[in-house]
Amino acid sequence: MSRFLSNKYETLEPYTPGEQPKTQVLTKLNTNESPYPPAPEVVKAAAEAAASLQLYPDPDCTELRKAIAAVQNVDPAEIICNNGSDETIYFAFMAYCDSGRPAVFPKITYGFYPVFAEITGTEYRTIPLKDDFSIDPKDYYDAEGTIFIANPNAPTGIPLSLDQIEDILKHNPDNVVVIDEAYVDFGTESAVPLVSRYDNLLVVQTFSKSRSLAGMRLGYGIGSRDLISDLNALRFSTNPYNVDRIAIAAGIASLEHDEVNREHCRMIMKNRKYTVEKLSEMGFEMTDSTANFIFVRHPEIHGSELFGKLRERGVIIRHWDKPELADYNRITIGSREQMDILLREVADILAQQA
Ligand code: PMP
Repeated sequence: MSRFLSNKYETLEPYTPGEQPKTQVLTKLNTNESPYPPAPEVVKAAAEAAASLQLYPDPDCTELRKAIAAVQNVDPAEIICNNGSDETIYFAFMAYCDSGRPAVFPKITYGFYPVFAEITGTEYRTIPLKDDFSIDPKDYYDAEGTIFIANPNAPTGIPLSLDQIEDILKHNPDNVVVIDEAYVDFGTESAVPLVSRYDNLLVVQTFSKSRSLAGMRLGYGIGSRDLISDLNALRFSTNPYNVDRIAIAAGIASLEHDEVNREHCRMIMKNRKYTVEKLSEMGFEMTDSTANFIFVRHPEIHGSELFGKLRERGVIIRHWDKPELADYNRITIGSREQMDILLREVADILAQQA
């Protein structure tokens, strides 16, 4: 760091994104991207939008919000579009957390939450998971802070039911509850239908995973008009053109062809079931994931060793050195072909251990 950096960032530990390898990788299963490209119509719409890039985009994302509203059955005024859902979450930290109002989130969850807390000067309180890695809604009653919960949680993939989310909302009428639904489309019930009844609920979704647009950076938040207007105040105070023309066009086209996305999700869920079965047969233990990733460990090989050996064979998965996670790896569910490569290499590594 230079000698000029503000000392308010002295303790900042930036988020570490999963590796995006520059060299040839056979099988990339480390950052929960979709194995399937977007529909050709989405690519075409993005290319057509590129012809008008001399012009700024619509800062209100009017057409895109209308398209999202139609799919989600909410009013466009209840939607804010952002540069990936990370940005929506960042705005929520800016809007609803400060030195007097802490952020509250599970001890094991998406690694960006503590970073957003740090950069917004927010105290935060983490709540341990139960022994089976699940979240107990009771731990979030009267949280005295702004709650952030990924549903399903990351990296465990374990979901809360809609009733459990509602339970948390009911017990926090004066706290904002942010439900991060990055992985909701792979088998978890969305909390969006609760938005009309709870003015303290902000649901965050993304085009990155189930809609195959991680490279685009497009996400959105759904909440009461008042919450959305808070977030817009911050957006217009930082970057009103945060969603570019290409993203707007691709997002609309993606929703117009949402049946393609839904079919991709179905295929991923099928591949998940297949991978879970095969890995279980090999002695792996894992959480019951409803995400496009699984969280696994094997009694006979440490998480970091399996990660390293797979990497040598061109298969990249995600490993964390934190003590409570080190035994485990998170494996993104890819295509059937990718999963067969993973399974073959894992079987071979285990056979060499024996
Ligand atoms: N929430 C969770 C739980 C995630 O894992 C991710 C992806 N890293 C995000 C939000 C952010 O996704 P994006 O910014 O690509 O929309």
